[in-house]
Amino acid sequence: MHDLVLAGGHVLDPANNLDGPADVGIAGGRVAEVGRVTTGARRTIDVGGRYVLPGLIDTHAHLSRHFGSAEGHAMVAETGVVTVLDLAGDADDLAGALAGGGAGLNVAYLHPLIPDRTVPGRDPSADEVGRAVDSALEAGALGIKLLGGHYPLTPGATGRAMDAATARRCYLAFHVGTTETGSDVRGLAEALDLAAGRRIHIAHVNSYCRGQTTGDPVAEAQQALDLLYAYPSALSESYLSVHNGTSARCDDGIPTSGVTRTCLRLGGYEQTERGLEAAIRAGYARIHAIAGGRVILATPQAGLEAWRAAGTDAGISFPVNHIPSAILLATARRAGRFVIEALSTDGGSIPRNFLVRHGLMLVQIGAWTLRDFAVKASLNPARMLGIPTKGHLAVGADADVTVVDPDAGRAIWSVAGGRLVLDEGHLVGRGGAFITTPRGEAAVRARLGACAVVHAEGWGEDDDRAAGYRA
Ligand SMILES: [Zn+2]
Repeated sequence: MHDLVLAGGHVLDPANNLDGPADVGIAGGRVAEVGRVTTGARRTIDVGGRYVLPGLIDTHAHLSRHFGSAEGHAMVAETGVVTVLDLAGDADDLAGALAGGGAGLNVAYLHPLIPDRTVPGRDPSADEVGRAVDSALEAGALGIKLLGGHYPLTPGATGRAMDAATARRCYLAFHVGTTETGSDVRGLAEALDLAAGRRIHIAHVNSYCRGQTTGDPVAEAQQALDLLYAYPSALSESYLSVHNGTSARCDDGIPTSGVTRTCLRLGGYEQTERGLEAAIRAGYARIHAIAGGRVILATPQAGLEAWRAAGTDAGISFPVNHIPSAILLATARRAGRFVIEALSTDGGSIPRNFLVRHGLMLVQIGAWTLRDFAVKASLNPARMLGIPTKGHLAVGADADVTVVDPDAGRAIWSVAGGRLVLDEGHLVGRGGAFITTPRGEAAVRARLGACAVVHAEGWGEDDDRAAGYRA
């Protein structure tokens, strides 16, 4: 007896070369049968006329206090994504959201290294960085995120943080930039030099190609592709949205985030709290506000009020991404492989969860096949995360499935760990599963009790995960 059967759909599973009609039987949170399923089921859903893909994975989102909030769980889940990596997460926030409601997602997080907040100053020692990484891993993080573009460390401290991650075989992600560079292609070149052949997740490549160093975003996208192609150990993602997302927090009249100051400069505004207020009033800067349990981009007046009410510590978005270069980055292939492994959103509680909508737009215009979409939004992300039981639908795999209607550009059903998250377009998922390493398991179990815990593999230098999955 299966728990659930998705019957009559077209299964598209690139890892197993499945591309045809098949039912998917699910039992005990695993894929139990693929093909013509005759075993009975507690529930059978007719997914005829739809495409059945391995569960979609967003390798860059925000669900925690540093850049987001718990609203992000529902905002991600209602798009059909079932697994998400919080790129500046917090164990308390994520566990609290899973225990207090959640939306049925599989969640993992990276601990952010932020000067004077999570590490001492901009030039912490090897010991100081090592202690921060150890306590993050014990708390349940998969690894660390360097936030150079927003809160840079010195190049030396950036290298020490990379060493600390490598020594512990943990996940390492980088929003490029140090005290010597910025969040641009120059920063990308520096990041890859500092990484020196290590496995590293380069965050949102599109955001380094806004014309900041050459004035030509498409030329910068080509440069970024050349750099990434030359560093095959760098795993990367990009997103498709004109809006970025950053912090509107100001201390002593100055925006604290370097990204926010740059956006003000790009828009012709003073790089001060006064300049930010003018940008919000003019509708160039859009404050993130909560409405109906979701985060939205507020109108100018509502945004100003929410920003003031929050004492300036609110999220904010600027229309600074260059769409032609973002499409070039998402679709670029060399030697038959995607140069940038994954499509992401940098969304979550930042209101731009466009992985499905904009990914399927690329399918609709013929820039991608639906198989390409499955590779960029499920197979490659699962391999980046180090979870061999996700990203495909072989018998025994985690029962993570997303059923899409490519012509409508949306997901209709989704399943995470065998449980429905989206049911005929309606969000029904609750709770969720925490993805951690063996080192973080005790802390996660202490917080979440019987809640599912999924292990990710270590991120060693000696495994060859980077090879062979860029199809
Ligand atoms: Zn981000």
